[in-house]
Amino acid sequence: MKTPFENALKQLDNVTKIVDVSADALELLQKPQRVHEVAIPVRMDNGKMKSFRGYRVQYSNARGPYKGGIRFHPDVNIDEVKALSFWMTIKCALMGIPYGGAKGGVEVNPKDLSQRELQELSRGYVRGLYLEIGPKIDIPAPDVYTNEQVMGWMMDQYSLLQGYTSLGAFTGKPVEIGGISARSTATGRGGFILLDKIIKEKKKKPKDVRIAIQGFGNAGYVFAKLAHDAGYKIVGLSDSRGAIIAKNGKNMDPHAVLERKMKKGLIDGMYCKGSVCDEENFSAASNEELLEMDCDVLVPAAIEDQITESNAKNIKASIVVELANGPTTPYADEILFKKNICVVPDVLANAGGVTVSYFEWLQNTQNTVWSEEETNQKLVDIMIDSYKNMKKISKKYSIDYRTASFVLAVERVEDAMKNRGWI
Ligand code: NAD
Repeated sequence: MKTPFENALKQLDNVTKIVDVSADALELLQKPQRVHEVAIPVRMDNGKMKSFRGYRVQYSNARGPYKGGIRFHPDVNIDEVKALSFWMTIKCALMGIPYGGAKGGVEVNPKDLSQRELQELSRGYVRGLYLEIGPKIDIPAPDVYTNEQVMGWMMDQYSLLQGYTSLGAFTGKPVEIGGISARSTATGRGGFILLDKIIKEKKKKPKDVRIAIQGFGNAGYVFAKLAHDAGYKIVGLSDSRGAIIAKNGKNMDPHAVLERKMKKGLIDGMYCKGSVCDEENFSAASNEELLEMDCDVLVPAAIEDQITESNAKNIKASIVVELANGPTTPYADEILFKKNICVVPDVLANAGGVTVSYFEWLQNTQNTVWSEEETNQKLVDIMIDSYKNMKKISKKYSIDYRTASFVLAVERVEDAMKNRGWI
């Protein structure tokens, strides 16, 4: 199997088969502008010193300051961070947001750390990289296994090092320190706005649409909750430890699943006796089974490389909404396209997160506060505009939505490079 960055470059290459991209722009787009690697020392609770490996890849700032999340995960590696930073560059350009693309990560299993160790690690990441980031240079945000608390610690550490409070240095912060409440739900909401639009275009009723979601974290849970509340049928949910699948066309209530998960620590804590977790309605399954289950919409909302050449032919959903970054390999993409499955690509489907991060940064740097309603309405406008722009390109060249998104984004980045006199 190819690495995530090799997959990303293949997606870039696909663009050149559709439109002319100048050799100069291609040369610049094939490599990240800056790659930082740091050792982060943490005094562990047992008194021993441990050094964690951290990365920040700043792929392109052609269209504006670098922007992208920070991931804490045992599998983080430089190739993955490069791919994610490239996708951020494409995503911000596609959404018309004046940012470039970046991504960060630390090779760690945060579940093994105490709260104190986690805080030390978060502050250590900033101590290692503070000269390279900032509200005008590179603005990080949460990603897998990082959250608003981590962003709060990081913003505080950055501010300590600057000598003044710099709210605009990080997005996805707690509301009390410059965060905005709409940010925590933005990724799932953005994906749901698109699904709802597509279902309305198909003139289908939500109650007839069965949705399976892989990954029950920030993105997956919010999507599940909004879809459930709007009358869609949730028929499968999973997390890293396993899945639950509804029996006999039953509907799952994501709120109830979350409550059980909080109590038991397992998503199949839902698979138990009692009123909200009736054994007769749900069965435990593997993540592999969830991906291939009978449903209308599949939402990968966990990690990369989940839909591959080995399972793509077994996918039964007719719509895939990619909330996760890079869940489908390019080879699997071709299989899904041949099967006439509509794939709403990650660079659009999960772009609600960076869009509302942009709103948060705007408010922090302009010292203003918008209402949640105003923020959510602006999100709807940007999601739908970008969807329409992508559809137009897809129709013009008879290409899938992912390639159309990349065509649009690469053209915008190339234009920025030309206008700046780089090429
Ligand atoms: P999260 O840490 O809140 O949740 C991740 C979920 O995925 C958890 O439920 C975890 O148990 C599950 N998971 C992990 N490994 C798995 C596996 N092998 N199989 C099945 N489930 C697994 O993370 P998140 O913020 O919800 O991010 C999920 C995805 O969405 C990532 O790909 C991330 O890059 C992408 N994304 C998130 C945001 C955001 O704002 N949170 C924005 C854009 C993209």
